[in-house]
Amino acid sequence: MRAGSGLANPGVADSPGDGPAVRVRIAPSPTGPLHIGTARTALFNYLFARRTGGTFILRLEDTDLERSTPAYEKDILEGLRWLGLGWDEGPGLPGELDRGPYGPYRQMERLARYASISAGLLADDKAYYCYCTAAELDAERKRLEAARLAPRYSGRCAHLSAAERAAFEAEGRRPAIRFRIEPGSVVFDDLVRGRVQIDASALGGDLVIVRAGGTPLYHFCVVVDDAAMKISHVIRGEDHLSNTPKHILLFRALGEAEPRFAHLPLILNPDRTKMSKRKSQTAVDDYIGEGFIREGMVNYLALLGWSTGSEEEILGIDEIAARFSLEHIQKGGAVFDRERLEWLNGQWIRRLSPTELVDRLRPFLQEEADGARIDRLPADSELELLMPLVQERLPVLGAIGDLVDFLFSEHIDLDPAQLVPKRWDRATALDGLGYARVTIGEVAQADFEPDQLEAPLRALAEARGWKAGDLFMTIRVAVTGRTATPPLFQTLVALGRERVLGRLDSAIVLLAAGAREGGQE
Ligand code: GLU
Repeated sequence: MRAGSGLANPGVADSPGDGPAVRVRIAPSPTGPLHIGTARTALFNYLFARRTGGTFILRLEDTDLERSTPAYEKDILEGLRWLGLGWDEGPGLPGELDRGPYGPYRQMERLARYASISAGLLADDKAYYCYCTAAELDAERKRLEAARLAPRYSGRCAHLSAAERAAFEAEGRRPAIRFRIEPGSVVFDDLVRGRVQIDASALGGDLVIVRAGGTPLYHFCVVVDDAAMKISHVIRGEDHLSNTPKHILLFRALGEAEPRFAHLPLILNPDRTKMSKRKSQTAVDDYIGEGFIREGMVNYLALLGWSTGSEEEILGIDEIAARFSLEHIQKGGAVFDRERLEWLNGQWIRRLSPTELVDRLRPFLQEEADGARIDRLPADSELELLMPLVQERLPVLGAIGDLVDFLFSEHIDLDPAQLVPKRWDRATALDGLGYARVTIGEVAQADFEPDQLEAPLRALAEARGWKAGDLFMTIRVAVTGRTATPPLFQTLVALGRERVLGRLDSAIVLLAAGAREGGQE
């Protein structure tokens, strides 16, 4: 898609209007698994591209050789695909889309460009060779620290003569390249935060753009690439806000047009500190592993810092794209609220067709089987019949085991204490189970249906003066081993008459044995 097609809306302030085509990017570093924050940034870029008819680009910032791995790269690409955030240009796409005029999209494949551009900056004296060693820089930093001053490069190598340079070279020192940060203040209009003004004196002095070994560094590569890829809007996390003035100065030095910037609010732990692995689950993979579904995840991530401005809450990705605008992004941090995520996820699970739900549950049931928590894998037809019973009870797909394991395993673990509802004692529970056994036994196989079971069991509770809920609880625990299950009568039907009667018998034996050991209460 290109600007001017699709949903472009010239009336919206952040839409392209007559400006350059919208080109946005997500630029993850493959130094860890796909992070929730990266997924949210990718989503907002994707939504903005879809909303404006722009292009969404994936670029891998893989120059940190020590920490980047192919496995993390795979995890990130797969996670983005899983979320449905397909990119229009970038790694893994056929032909031109990966190798075209703006590619390649892996920074390690763009080293020649960084080298020639840093050479140009040196030639223009916008950058210089710096021979300071790590030990010298460290000592400088410590001196500033001791004097309670912010770390800042002294500029020692900023004006070396040819002879001084030659002397350092003769010592065997290898130079880094530093970009000159000129005094003054950098001002830009952030599309989320409004006007931002930062004084160049706060930027830590002249900036290393190429390490002594020749490795180009993030601030430099990001600007070279954003310029080369004609990125129109840089939409990224607020943690990059303090980097943006450096980037703007680099764009200017390169004689390139600056993109517009939009800094997304930080994602916060529940205690309002910045979201961290220690306090929150941050890897998208772990959410997938629990059984969050893409629809729920995308819906939730979109609401992490953005809102429709109305009460609307449950929205699919296309509906969100149609409403999306950078103007509706909040400035304040967005607390990651797991309960809300689960709720939204549950809402989306309810919207799946039974066949689709069965499909998505398969890997989770397989896991139950692999972990020997169920004895056999049910057939699709069997599962589809169960979907109406479980669909509203799944905040995540991974909860399926607890809901249905008693149906697919011969043995259930019974806790005798749970067979005795709170208002009952053991003797009443034994009575309840005994009478229930008789009542259910009187329902013939041909009549074994929810209504045919409910009526006589209610009548039994009434006749004995029990609360129906108590009687039903002891039956539920006896036949499933659990206190929370799908609706009882459907559960009995799903279990089948023989198994229900058999499990009631076992529960009675267990409770009676316990009663003999522990004495009558
Ligand atoms: N590689 C950077 C990161 O993952 C990209 C930042 C940017 O969008 O400029 O944070």
